[in-house]
Amino acid sequence: MTPQVDRLAVESIVREIVLKRLGTCPGKDRVGHPSRLVVNASARHMHVSPQDLEAMFGPGHQLKPLRPLFQPGTFAAEETVVLVGPRGRVISNLRILGPVRSTSQVELSFTDAIMLGIENVPLRLSGDLEGTPGTFVMGPQGVVELNKGVIRAAMHVHMGPADAEFYGVRHRDLMKLRVGDGAAVTFDQVRVRVDPASRLEVHMDTDEANACALHLAKQVELVKP
Ligand SMILES: [Zn+2]
Repeated sequence: MTPQVDRLAVESIVREIVLKRLGTCPGKDRVGHPSRLVVNASARHMHVSPQDLEAMFGPGHQLKPLRPLFQPGTFAAEETVVLVGPRGRVISNLRILGPVRSTSQVELSFTDAIMLGIENVPLRLSGDLEGTPGTFVMGPQGVVELNKGVIRAAMHVHMGPADAEFYGVRHRDLMKLRVGDGAAVTFDQVRVRVDPASRLEVHMDTDEANACALHLAKQVELVKP
């Protein structure tokens, strides 16, 4: 017996996709808002320094962009690495995000950290790595030992100065993010990151996205606490 396709559900999905393409998704817009609010889940990934990239992929290696990410200039790279946890458990295809940075860093979800046996992975903003656990990462040409740099990324919102003015917030302020209608979820500690080069976008990890059923959410809203 073939399962019945729910026609209404299909239509609703198609409408959502078309509206997203048109950039006029209703319920995610606010009147007078300079930018449409985008919320994206970041799956586990690694940022890599040029030195560590060469150690794992060979001398002179440059990252190959696989697809662009929402923030200008950033991309998911073709390159993946193998992360080896303290109990020999591995993540075999940890994606590298580009471009390269001054310091390597691994961003995991809480579930990833538990699976690997890396205990007490701290919740940090990107780049704030003092006192964080290390790990081994392996590429096709070599292994790198990171003495620190494994974090759970603290939920944050990227925005430019115009959006910061719209919301009445400054760099490093905290905001709340409300996701969904009906039984909605509100995240209380969303760090504001203002940069002239940034587009308005909230980054959460996959655990947080699953907890609020982000992929089904029709409404997302940022509010000042
Ligand atoms: Zn981010």
